[in-house]
Amino acid sequence: MNDPARPTGASAVTAIPLARLIEAFHRLPGIGPKSAQRLAYHVLRAPQSEAQELADALLDVKQRIRLCGLCQNLTETDPCGVCLDPARDPSIVCVVEEPLDVLAVERAAAFRGRYHVLHGHLSPMDGIGPEQIKVQELLARLGAPSPSDTAAASALIEEVILATNPNLEGEATAAYLARLLVPLGVRVSRIAHGLPIGSDVEYADERTLHQAMEHRVPLGDADGNRISVSAPPAAAAEESDRSAQPTP
Ligand SMILES: [Zn+2]
Repeated sequence: MNDPARPTGASAVTAIPLARLIEAFHRLPGIGPKSAQRLAYHVLRAPQSEAQELADALLDVKQRIRLCGLCQNLTETDPCGVCLDPARDPSIVCVVEEPLDVLAVERAAAFRGRYHVLHGHLSPMDGIGPEQIKVQELLARLGAPSPSDTAAASALIEEVILATNPNLEGEATAAYLARLLVPLGVRVSRIAHGLPIGSDVEYADERTLHQAMEHRVPLGDADGNRISVSAPPAAAAEESDRSAQPTP
């Protein structure tokens, strides 16, 4: 099995088309040389139709997927289905870093407004400033009309929810956006930080607990009045219990 004479990656003994495919797989994120080899040999052994399907899907995604002119999410039609959906509230916009974040928020079924995808976060160390992410496009939705804006965009946005990641870059991005958005007369909120459903206080890290304390929710006031808070439905809590491991 571990024959030292056997190449672990693409090499001179591998036929050129196969070596090319191995190299192509190896360039994908999270694919090491061994996995690249396994995938390439799988394609080689698969029926012609399966290989064709893979090739078509790869080209299709490059040729047909573009960014929605409003929310900047990946879409086949512009504006995208979410921006055109009359059942969604156009006055609330949830700002996320990546298209996959939209899917996550949709899975939670807790938001029925529209989105804005930044395609990244501010990271001065990596040379990523506001021009490198979709900040200008967000500001345009809140005021300055652009030629592509039609009736769909002119609906007044009243609240922007900043749902960037609760890490250094995400927090910096949210703080930067808040500084820009608040003077525009729009309500700006940040998603709450705290303990995951189904977790134990005992095992929470210090920063999470600190945030949870800071963003605590009142249940009653000093006059003895109860304050109702929207608790997640039991089914949703159970679901998130079961799927504690986020899928990539
Ligand atoms: Zn859209």
